[in-house]
Amino acid sequence: MCKSCNIVKRITRCVILLLNIAFILVYSDIYSQDSITLPVKIVSGNAYISEYDIRTLLPVQSSFDLLLQRGRVMRGPRFAIYTVGMSVALCGELLLLSEYPVVRMQGEVLIPLDIALPMVKNLMEGYVVAIRGNNVIVNRETAIQQEKQKAKKPLPHVSKDAIGFIVVDAGHGGKDPGAIGKSGIKEKLLTLQIAREVALELQKKLPGIDVVMTRTTDKFLELGERTEIANRLLKKGVNGIFVSIHCNAAVVSKISGFETYYLSQNPSNEEARTTAVLENNVIVFESPEKRKRYSDVDIIEALMLTTQIQKESSMLASAIQKGLDRNISEFKSKGVKKADFFVLRGCLMPSALVEVGYITNTKEKNFLTNKNYQKKLARGITEGIMRFIDAYNKTVLNN
Ligand SMILES: [Zn+2]
Repeated sequence: MCKSCNIVKRITRCVILLLNIAFILVYSDIYSQDSITLPVKIVSGNAYISEYDIRTLLPVQSSFDLLLQRGRVMRGPRFAIYTVGMSVALCGELLLLSEYPVVRMQGEVLIPLDIALPMVKNLMEGYVVAIRGNNVIVNRETAIQQEKQKAKKPLPHVSKDAIGFIVVDAGHGGKDPGAIGKSGIKEKLLTLQIAREVALELQKKLPGIDVVMTRTTDKFLELGERTEIANRLLKKGVNGIFVSIHCNAAVVSKISGFETYYLSQNPSNEEARTTAVLENNVIVFESPEKRKRYSDVDIIEALMLTTQIQKESSMLASAIQKGLDRNISEFKSKGVKKADFFVLRGCLMPSALVEVGYITNTKEKNFLTNKNYQKKLARGITEGIMRFIDAYNKTVLNN
């Protein structure tokens, strides 16, 4: 074959190859511009999007944990986590709330539209997501739409309303005595007495806010039930806070003082870690099934607070500790600490745990059982909560 023929042949091959590439590019572009339709399903009057449709029709990755009934959808760095039976979902920093929960029907997981729509919007950045008729339409965004979108103010992350309720949790109860102090005094009794004083003081000082106690009698509550009481109120669309009351214990009886905690996977120090281990011991009273859940890494992640809630919880803990500092001079203020308390884990709102004092210290135990001192503690805690609410509501009104 002559040299020029060979060159012609090569050029032809190149042209065919280029045409092929161009065809693929054009075709894939047309394909990617195709709109994706997610049908809205109505079950018992509630609107849902099928998890199967999200997973198969959208360019996302997903996984589902059958044991925990928890699903996860990912697209690049974006992710969403939802759980069957729960009406809240986590989508990156966003906390998505619905009136009704994620359900599983005949093997199909249905996500409430209230959760699914913002979830898809968040995951599908670069797409326009809108409801049209009985469908959610996902369209690739054009350059003009992108400009318009940028001009729009970003949507607020979590719906912010003024604080409408306070849940006061008396630690332990029933078959769980909590720590046992000097002369056999049980933590569960003192936490109930002090929580009652706190609730009374709050009702007096903040008449417009609902004050709810997790228990008013000597009854056993699982840790999850405590926060569930608070989360149920949150689902009604009102914001609130959760404060758990406890008494501390130590092997060395001279240790005394009060401190306030907020939830963190990284304890402030060894003492904070020990206090959390002590308080978390209550799970031995819960069923083995429930116990497994606390050790599951995935649940920590799924129920992990958004950084915003953690920031607010740290503010709440600081305010409470300051309130106590101003009212209590008999014992040392041990400051604000962070640790992994299981009782605070599932809480979807600002929360704190107060260790009002050591029942293993004779002098402090005597004070803790004294009605006047209990009222003093309640005043301190209430003052702190009031300051927090004041600051919180101001930021809400400014946003
Ligand atoms: Zn306790």
